[in-house]
Amino acid sequence: MPGRGPNERETRVLEGIGVSPGYAIGRAHLVDRRRVRVPKYHLSAGQVKAELQRFAEALAQSESQIQDIKGKLVSAGEEQVLILEAHQLMMRDEMLVEGTRQLIREQNINAEWALKKVVRSIKQIFDNIDDEYFRERRSDVDFVGDRILRNLLGGAHPSLSQVGHSAIVVAHDLSPADTAFLMRTAVLGFATDVGGKTSHTAIMARSLELPAVVGLERITEIVGTGDVLVLDGTLGRVLVNPPPDEVKRYQRQQMVYSAHRAKLDEARHEPSTTQDGTPVRIAGNIELPEETSVVLEYGAEGVGLYRTEYLYMNRETLPDEQEQYEHYRQVLETAGAAGATIRTLDLGGDKFIEPLKLNRELNPVMGLRAIRFCLREQGIFRTQLRALLRASVHGNLRMMLPLISSIEEVWQTRAILDECRQQLEQEGQPMADHIPLGIMIELPSAAAIADLLAKEVDFFAIGTNDLIQYTLAIDRANEHVAHLYRPLHPALLRMLEFIVASANAAGIRVSMCGEMAGEALFVPVLLGLGLRELSMNTVSIPIIKSVVRAVSIDTCEDLFRGVRDLVCADQIEARVRAAVDEMLAGTDAAQVVNPGLPPEATPG
Ligand code: PEP
Ligand code: MG
Repeated sequence: MPGRGPNERETRVLEGIGVSPGYAIGRAHLVDRRRVRVPKYHLSAGQVKAELQRFAEALAQSESQIQDIKGKLVSAGEEQVLILEAHQLMMRDEMLVEGTRQLIREQNINAEWALKKVVRSIKQIFDNIDDEYFRERRSDVDFVGDRILRNLLGGAHPSLSQVGHSAIVVAHDLSPADTAFLMRTAVLGFATDVGGKTSHTAIMARSLELPAVVGLERITEIVGTGDVLVLDGTLGRVLVNPPPDEVKRYQRQQMVYSAHRAKLDEARHEPSTTQDGTPVRIAGNIELPEETSVVLEYGAEGVGLYRTEYLYMNRETLPDEQEQYEHYRQVLETAGAAGATIRTLDLGGDKFIEPLKLNRELNPVMGLRAIRFCLREQGIFRTQLRALLRASVHGNLRMMLPLISSIEEVWQTRAILDECRQQLEQEGQPMADHIPLGIMIELPSAAAIADLLAKEVDFFAIGTNDLIQYTLAIDRANEHVAHLYRPLHPALLRMLEFIVASANAAGIRVSMCGEMAGEALFVPVLLGLGLRELSMNTVSIPIIKSVVRAVSIDTCEDLFRGVRDLVCADQIEARVRAAVDEMLAGTDAAQVVNPGLPPEATPG
């Protein structure tokens, strides 16, 4: 185990944002996937020759590493090999090699600094070429520059595949694709420098039931591989190298928490009906088909949101129609009569995939994301729609469109869908006669015209993760504004009330599948404003079911009436917290939602 000896290890308590509840106790595995920091210093004339030699060695080392990787890619496609060869060529490129050498010689600066300057000017050249293909090559230049830099610095090249079992992953950031990859390794939890509660990485952590803390800002600078960590995903804390008695106290805390959780889990198949007998439908959110049986096992009534974009991640090629059809069929067959709401591709924003080199956008969250991307890349969209139509005979399918901002987008999609249906009919493929088509309400524009949209579609699903992000202008993955992410902001409550009322007036179903639906604190307010369908991540299902069983609709309605005229989130939250504490007093849900303070620990 590298690093300091046990006696030298310093205890630290780091505060972040708890995004997935529970405790993880184990050793850290640091995955540093950040851009390397570049040291900058001047050389004396006598040092230049040695610096040139150092640069030559780093170049040679980089080339042979790429050669090695190429050798290991036994089943690689031609494209991967070509990319690696292009990287090797770049490492011999005159502009890069000679350019760097020249700066070392003429400006007497160290190799890292010189290389950084050269990489930047090469990228500028690519930027100015009016050809998408060349502009995309910027990332290859970065990749090559990074590799040489790391070799100059003598650092290791980070890879998630080296993460062992029973480790707590510590990283600057993990993309949703990284998190999906980590699923295959039995990690205990993770802690990152950046991120917010509803970032996709956080959502994945919850569905994998991995305790996680994000937004720790500097954990990758403080923690090294092998450090002992106690991660408290409920309070959002990480203890680094705590003394043994502290570890023991947390182990006891972990046992108490697990016991209460176990009680909730035992009751997970009991119906979710309020004290006054009102049924509330609790469904599950999934990212992968295999999770369907997991959410059902946790007590969900069907799938309320299947984020199909995960099918497109961590792979070199796009999934074809047949592959998608098989996945959707599996979800529908497993979900049974309760059915599944399958959402069409929601790429872009913070979700990117390998096979599609999407244009680098200045602001991807407001860019070519989700339905906008699909309506532009209709080939990809049609493949998915055809697969969904074909799968519709295998269960109770509801199709859902993400990030709808206007009625035109619904009309355009319907037109494409009709064409796909006609084609499939001509091909003799069986399909269900009527497949409900719904939309996510996750943009303020959609919320404002919910009454008009309700006449065009069969159901609404409220995506609060994005609705809050776009309404309050809070990047959901940015830890610096995480404190402004307020689901109980009066602007949100007004929107929710209008969306639910519009759906009810049009007689269509309305559910909520954003993370707000899976938070015990918010559920009584949601029931009070009229929602009767909630869809959520796996871990929340038993908890929310027990919350539903503990409350009555009257009290929830009173609570909502009491807060709807308050003027700010602080006031609303204080009122809601007090009311919910009272409603849940003495239940196992209360213990899990608010397990009490952990053992004494001093922040540092
Ligand atoms: C949402 O925005 O609330 C939602 C459920 O969609 P996603 O989290 O996938 O953006
Ligand atoms: Mg969304």
